[in-house]
Amino acid sequence: MNSSFGSPEKHCASNAEGLLQNCDALSELGSHFEDMRARGVREAVERAVKQSNQLIREKLRSETRLSLTSSEERSTAPVTVEDGYPLRFKKLLESIPPLVWTLRQSIGLLRSGSESIALVGRQFEQIVEQFPQLRWHDAQKHEFESSFAALLRLIEEIEQVKLQKLFAEIDEDILGAYFFLRGEVKLYWIPIGLIAGALNVAVEDLTVVVLAHELAHAYTHLGRDIDGHQWATNHFGDSDLGVIEGLAQFYTETVTDRLSNRFPNAHSAYEALLAIQAGPYKTHLEWTEQTGSRASEILRWCLLQARAKGKAKCAEFETLVKGANERLKRSK
Ligand SMILES: [Zn+2]
Repeated sequence: MNSSFGSPEKHCASNAEGLLQNCDALSELGSHFEDMRARGVREAVERAVKQSNQLIREKLRSETRLSLTSSEERSTAPVTVEDGYPLRFKKLLESIPPLVWTLRQSIGLLRSGSESIALVGRQFEQIVEQFPQLRWHDAQKHEFESSFAALLRLIEEIEQVKLQKLFAEIDEDILGAYFFLRGEVKLYWIPIGLIAGALNVAVEDLTVVVLAHELAHAYTHLGRDIDGHQWATNHFGDSDLGVIEGLAQFYTETVTDRLSNRFPNAHSAYEALLAIQAGPYKTHLEWTEQTGSRASEILRWCLLQARAKGKAKCAEFETLVKGANERLKRSK
């Protein structure tokens, strides 16, 4: 596996749309997409982008102290919501049967259904007494109990389909992407809708998480320091995946936390997504564990060092974090 962020087989390294799959190509999943369309998933993603785009940028600017100059601010890293999705997502999509996707979207509904059946079962005798006009008989109590047990088993089976295992093999962004050669951000409403359903989080909250992540890529790459320097595009693309994704994840964690007054559930959506992610999407956890309450300042410094040096390597970045952490401790 190539470990650089922008290796050519990754769709974020593409200069064209060729590596994107259009949803219409998967006709057997058509009705499922129709259902998401009917539920207004695309509109929900667009709404969340509109509401959070500027706020996320403000937080990223203040956290990284890197800025897109005022003339660039409007035109840099424009965000669009797309119908397609990366080919890598197609494989994930196809590895789970459409029915399972559909049922996972409704897991909350199934759970509350089973709870209401259990409630009726528990109160069966009192209900019969209170509402004799129902003409329920004793055998029906058993029907409620066996329906409850059957539903519980179904829920267990659906939850057995572990997204962690599928996500563990994914080493590129599939819910959105930062096309670093073009400086553009795209969000894919179909993957966002499906994964939000599977994680039982709101589409809007997951959208904020994905947008924060992709814009964090844009800020770490194109944001200017006070001397006006950016991260050279070839160096950014050739840097280790673990560093680039780790930085994006760190700023996603920070930004969703800082925006909790505006989007109270975005941070828990970040945590729900993180729980099924692996590899490069978790490198930041070691950094934050080491640096604790000084994480923001230390990682900002390390980011600037890495950018100045050129291509960032995981091991070197870890050494930077360790060194900065120790220096800060000593100076205290
Ligand atoms: Zn990413």
